[in-house]
Amino acid sequence: MRFEWSYEQQTAYDDTLAAARDRFPEPIHDRNFDRKEWRTLGDLGLLGLSIPVAYGGGGLGALDTAHQVEALGRGCADTGIVFASSAHLFACAMPLVTFATEQAKRHFLPGMASGELIAGNAMTEEDAGSDVSRLAVTATATTGGFVLNGTKSFVTNGPISDVYVTYATTDPHAGHLGVTGFVVPRTSQGVRVGEPFVKMGLTSVPAGTVTFEDCFVPDEHVLGAPGQGGVIFQHSMGWERACLFAGYLGLLERVQERAVEHARTRRQFGAPIGANQAVSHTLADMKVRLESARLLLYRACWEMDAGAQSPLNVALSKLAVSEAALAGALDTVRIYGARGYLRDAGIETLLRDTVPATIFSGTSDIQRVIIARELGL
Ligand SMILES: Cc1cc2nc3c(=O)[nH]c(=O)nc-3n(C[C@H](O)[C@H](O)[C@H](O)COP(=O)(O)OP(=O)(O)OC[C@H]3O[C@@H](n4cnc5c(N)ncnc54)[C@H](O)[C@@H]3O)c2cc1C
Repeated sequence: MRFEWSYEQQTAYDDTLAAARDRFPEPIHDRNFDRKEWRTLGDLGLLGLSIPVAYGGGGLGALDTAHQVEALGRGCADTGIVFASSAHLFACAMPLVTFATEQAKRHFLPGMASGELIAGNAMTEEDAGSDVSRLAVTATATTGGFVLNGTKSFVTNGPISDVYVTYATTDPHAGHLGVTGFVVPRTSQGVRVGEPFVKMGLTSVPAGTVTFEDCFVPDEHVLGAPGQGGVIFQHSMGWERACLFAGYLGLLERVQERAVEHARTRRQFGAPIGANQAVSHTLADMKVRLESARLLLYRACWEMDAGAQSPLNVALSKLAVSEAALAGALDTVRIYGARGYLRDAGIETLLRDTVPATIFSGTSDIQRVIIARELGL
């Protein structure tokens, strides 16, 4: 077993880290990211990391992709941009890569890799969050395709997306085999996009509802076979739970660096605050959580590349990374004291940006449910 990166892998990481620091040096407040910033991500190759080269992407496997996302998360000061690009790549592009028709792949993937298109994953509904086996959005078969009706909620990028990957009930009597996946351009007749939600964090990336009203989707835009939607969604969640959270590893490393620096330089009672065991041990625990979460994430990605993705190891990784990021951000606010509570220090923003990591892509409770099930409970 070897733990080091090759020279090429380390250089790619260093280059992305430097580019992210250079292009996104400040968090974005009070506005959405713009098309120019999105294009910058595309130009850096970050929107198409795991999309095959034939469709304009980087053709990387899961582990190399995660390493790049980790560099972006460490270098980019705006977590909303990191999250938006990862949701676009892992929950939208990757299901297309594996399950879309050749026509749909050629139509959508090059634009998604370059940054010409923004994609949104539309699975959640008002009454379908953790449990997505009973979707109220329906797709009725008709000549040459399906007609979609109903409303999706909490679609990240939704208000500004050009294309949606969505899921609907095609057979209400078939349980999880009654769900079908679709790719739907925003310009399709019958697509209505709601106002952006007002959120606690990740404020530079808008989320909202997407409603389908008698929206016709041609057969070429069905993902996989009718009834395969549940499998396709779980496949996309495998990518998202493993690779998207590499961005939060990068964030946690940045947070930890800042907390250590502050503990070394801030003096109280005639000594650096880091000389107090209460502070130094908090930082030691943060480091343990970071490094153990990192190993779990790398293993989950390595397994994906080996074609042996395990739900247990993906759930362990998602749970460990998201909870480590949240705990690390909260500890860092404490270590910064009142300064950490001010927007200008940039710490409270990171705390608000890490809270949702324990909710999206399956909550921490749901990861524990998966882990317990895999343990045979
Ligand atoms: C910032 C953000 C971005 C998002 N982006 C997207 C997106 O792009 N596309 C999309 O489709 N969705 C998106 N979501 C929605 C997200 O996937 C859901 O919020 C998530 O799956 C949880 O669903 P819920 O909010 O309805 O909570 P619920 O399912 O109602 O759960 C509420 C609470 O009950 C607990 N709970 C529920 N069932 C169980 C159980 N069986 N065992 C133990 N505990 C349980 C949960 O852990 C949670 O604590 C996003 C959410 C956030 C916060």
